[in-house]
Amino acid sequence: MTRHVVWDHGVSLPGHRLWLDPLVVRSFAFISHAHTDHARRHREAVLTPQTLALIPESRRPRGWRMLGYDEPMRRDRATVTLLPAGHMLGSAQLLLEHGGTSLLYTGDIKLRVPGTRKQTHVPKAHVLIVETTYGRPHFRFGDPDATIEGIAMWCRRALDSRVAPVLLCHALGKTEEMMLALAPYGFEFALEKRCVPCAQAYTGAGRPLPEWIELDGDARGRVVIAPPAGKDEVRRLGRYRTALVSGWAKDSEFARLFGADMTFDLSDHCDFDELMDVVERTGADQVYTVHGYTEDFARSLRKRGIRASALEATEQLQLAL
Ligand SMILES: [Zn+2]
Repeated sequence: MTRHVVWDHGVSLPGHRLWLDPLVVRSFAFISHAHTDHARRHREAVLTPQTLALIPESRRPRGWRMLGYDEPMRRDRATVTLLPAGHMLGSAQLLLEHGGTSLLYTGDIKLRVPGTRKQTHVPKAHVLIVETTYGRPHFRFGDPDATIEGIAMWCRRALDSRVAPVLLCHALGKTEEMMLALAPYGFEFALEKRCVPCAQAYTGAGRPLPEWIELDGDARGRVVIAPPAGKDEVRRLGRYRTALVSGWAKDSEFARLFGADMTFDLSDHCDFDELMDVVERTGADQVYTVHGYTEDFARSLRKRGIRASALEATEQLQLAL
């Protein structure tokens, strides 16, 4: 049976009347996680309870079907299952199975989840739609646990010399996961104001965080976490040192843009090798790439003999399931 995958302001499966992280309001959409680029006021959305809890009221879908991990849901004649994606609290991959054919949409995904010593499970699928934020070979990140150890040592050294360590992290997801990863080292935290509602939302969504206060001009021996852009509040700290915590650490041009004293290549996305792993584990015979270096990664896959193309570049592309 023929089904289509179409790029139409997001990934669309017209045969199932289902949109995957669409950028415009749709009648029925999957929201893979709570980052702003994915949340719209759809008529009905399927998402995990944690993702719903993390989306601010003003951007929530008007109706929703909450679905836990590994709980199959019928959608017309197909079965939809959400699986953990390792990207942030509530993030999910979507597996669609229909008539003996399966399609996996990864959403934003991370295989090597710090502190767990486990890798995110990736199921078998005939067709794969994979995010390729870091789809170029120079994006190869170090072992996440070793990197966290390095961040902890850097923070400790700064604190010992009465300098405020400032970690530049995205407010939602990265900030909270960073706090949890550093908790075993006994740090206390001061969060820049844009991180505050996100930390509160994380706790509200069922993930308690280590002790923190809102940054108010004095870090008081705490590790400061602030978003990478707009560091006005950080500049008021006096003696401080900044570290960018991001996969972009591997891109010297980009890292320089942030003007950080130090960089750590800890990411909540897959690096190039992890992306290759995702593809291999699915065993997919057809791969579509979305976000970031879509063309580059598709080309790398084709060199390895895998049928792959960038979905966004091929508008109205059809594929047979
Ligand atoms: Zn994301």
